[in-house]
Amino acid sequence: MKIDVLTLFPDMFSAVMSESMMWKAREHGLLEFEVHDIRDHAGNKQRKVDDSPYGGGGGMILKADVLTRAIEAVRQHDETPVILMSPQGRVLTHRVAAELSQCERLILVCGHYEGVDERARQLAINDEISIGDYVLTGGELAALVLIDAVVRLIPGVLGAEGAQHRDSHADGLLEGPHYTRPSEFRGLRVPAVLTSGHHAEVDRWRRRQALKRTWERRPDLLEKAVLSEEDRAYLSQLKDEAGD
Ligand code: SAM
Repeated sequence: MKIDVLTLFPDMFSAVMSESMMWKAREHGLLEFEVHDIRDHAGNKQRKVDDSPYGGGGGMILKADVLTRAIEAVRQHDETPVILMSPQGRVLTHRVAAELSQCERLILVCGHYEGVDERARQLAINDEISIGDYVLTGGELAALVLIDAVVRLIPGVLGAEGAQHRDSHADGLLEGPHYTRPSEFRGLRVPAVLTSGHHAEVDRWRRRQALKRTWERRPDLLEKAVLSEEDRAYLSQLKDEAGD
């Protein structure tokens, strides 16, 4: 996958993209990553990219001509997703990340100030993604969140075991608890099933813990999750025990 980012603050990407899994994905040739400074397309000596909004109201707006030029300089094919990071976009979920992880190329546009001129959005952007219902100062952190969520789903990035398929949200549930050595810590023992060596029992325990955790913390997720008869019976049992 190739990801291009358009930003006014290119340095914000270097640390994150040179560490841990993002570094590994690049090192192994699974990800090509390039940052482009929107100011390089300002078209004036002062490298000015923003102006005050028509109608007043304060704040500065990223200019349509500058942003459109910057995007057109990077985009080679019309079908490439050009995604504006925006609090008004569709919300980033596992499903959206999985969808984007299938793309060969993504162009991410980071807004700043009060936002971007609407005409740049209409002419050069074909998707908008939000990382949650709150407002950030700029799109850079949002782009990094999206990149991390997407790149870890590219086959090979997390290793052969495919641990990402068991993570929270991958199958609509939260993941259950984890344990490692020692088997007892401050009087708390690891559940016996995990040291039993019975793989089928371990899988069954993990599934039940995932159902229990989801029911306790995010019952809304259960409405959309794909559940078996056994899952439903276990959830009924949980509800009965809690007196629901
Ligand atoms: N005035 C805009 C509004 O109310 O919709 C908010 C502009 S915000 C201060 C500046 C930039 O930060 C946005 O253009 C966007 O690129 C980015 N941004 C802010 N919140 C975001 C979020 N929740 N998700 C993704 N990007 C966000």
